[in-house]
Amino acid sequence: MSVNYNGIALVLNCGSSSIKYQVVDTTADAPLASGLVERVTDHNEGVRAVIETLSQPDSGVDLSRLTVVGHRVVQGGAEFTAPTIITDEVVDHIAKLAVLAPLHNPGHVSGIEAARHAFPDLPHVAVFDTAFHATLTEAAYSYAIDPHIAREHGIRRYGFHGTSHGYVSREVARVMGRDAKGLRVITAHLGNGASIDAIKDGIAIDTSMGLTPLEGLVMGTRSGDLDPAVIFHLHRAAGLSIDEIDELLNKKSGLLGLAGSNDMRDVRKAAAEGSHEAQVALEVYTRRIKGYVGRYMALLGGLDAIVFTAGVGENADAIRELSLAGLEELGIEVDPVRNEGRCTEPTLISTDASRVQVWVIPTNEEREIALQSIAAVS
Ligand code: ADP
Repeated sequence: MSVNYNGIALVLNCGSSSIKYQVVDTTADAPLASGLVERVTDHNEGVRAVIETLSQPDSGVDLSRLTVVGHRVVQGGAEFTAPTIITDEVVDHIAKLAVLAPLHNPGHVSGIEAARHAFPDLPHVAVFDTAFHATLTEAAYSYAIDPHIAREHGIRRYGFHGTSHGYVSREVARVMGRDAKGLRVITAHLGNGASIDAIKDGIAIDTSMGLTPLEGLVMGTRSGDLDPAVIFHLHRAAGLSIDEIDELLNKKSGLLGLAGSNDMRDVRKAAAEGSHEAQVALEVYTRRIKGYVGRYMALLGGLDAIVFTAGVGENADAIRELSLAGLEELGIEVDPVRNEGRCTEPTLISTDASRVQVWVIPTNEEREIALQSIAAVS
């Protein structure tokens, strides 16, 4: 995405019960303001609370100078493959896609409507988490089910965290002094939600999240991959309803389910103090990542770089080390000293002898949404 356009964007990430915001001036490195409004029951009130905070004399923001409002939208379906200027029709379409993203899109729609109401004279742009994965081939996005059923119900791999995977894959090419063309990269976005991508020539060829963000890696509260028959079994043998299973796998599994906390800091501490559950949780978590690294190396036909990003990826050195331990034969060798601690800027953590470079690159989804929104209206 072009970085040639400058401006000031209010970036909104409207969840079902919270609104995260940032004001990004593309000519400055740090955001002018950022924050979170929690326990939002009415998005009009939530957006009003954001505006009120930003209108304070000490907020560092002059709302009259905004160029655009950029909205993060999780699910763009097969239709939205690029940042899109929001019209009534676009809002209707995002609302219809709620069938694929019941936990996310309804909150986005009410947030977008509230923000359009609050800033009627500004252009609003939707930036979709799915868009970066629009390049997946039919073989990559298809599940092995009847294609008629799949098509009728939109059942396919969409992938999420696309803004982050796109950003760090471009950044790694930049810091390596290489063109994205010819580069084979695996990007691991390990936050509360977590996903991993295989990227060739700057284009996503595979991703671990699927129809919804539930598939793939072990996450803070999501199970990631499991035998789909676990769902039937939980229904038939444990008597759970479909909604209860949805809640169990999305909100009460992953690190939380395995070790009692969705925060990697707690799990690491508990493991260090000898908790068996926490130790197993770390092993399940890192073993899953390692498995995907091998799978994506095979799909890419080799590998030039691995990138870790987001809360866990940027901060948890032990997770990076365990995820890639024992892969020397595959040309991957993490340097324990370079890997130590937290990384707040792009950092090379592999040894000089490692054929594959391993990097930690802090993600910046809000800035990327700002840049894409400004470019869309320029
Ligand atoms: P989100 O997906 O909500 O945007 P983040 O990318 O901010 O999440 O990641 C949040 C997670 O990062 C936390 O739940 C926590 O597990 C992890 N994290 C943050 N700081 C550390 C740290 N110092 N060590 C280990 N994990 C950390």
